[in-house]
Amino acid sequence: MTSGTTGLRLPLSLFPGLLGERKAARVAGHKTYFGGFKCPNGHLSPRRVFDGKCCACIDQTKAREQAAFERGMERGRAPERARKEAEAEVRERLKEEQRAARRAATAKAREDRARERANEKRRATLAKKKAATKRADGLPERAGAPDAAPWD
Ligand SMILES: [Zn+2]
Repeated sequence: MTSGTTGLRLPLSLFPGLLGERKAARVAGHKTYFGGFKCPNGHLSPRRVFDGKCCACIDQTKAREQAAFERGMERGRAPERARKEAEAEVRERLKEEQRAARRAATAKAREDRARERANEKRRATLAKKKAATKRADGLPERAGAPDAAPWD
């Protein structure tokens, strides 16, 4: 048996740009495709081919609009008005959530950079210590090449 994969499986999220599922799905006439990466809301879900939107997010939005619509109807709104208000309400809330997510992402990036800097410092200190220990042992810090090749 020589065909098949080697068994090495990397997460698809490592190369979303290389996969091109969306294009392939479009060519194949599918309505959705699987991008292999999470949406900003953390859904690992199929996406709509025509706009790339996460299907789980779309369902969530629809469910929210439906709930808001029902609340409007309960408050005695005319159906059309209740629908409009529900859409506006959900749109506004989504925008707020996106802003919050962006803020969180910025804060996380800042934290990551700070952690990376701290790690860098630790590594440098460790390397210095290691070098100092080696010198104390009488070992050369770096094995140098001979001054001249033996055949010279
Ligand atoms: Zn989503």
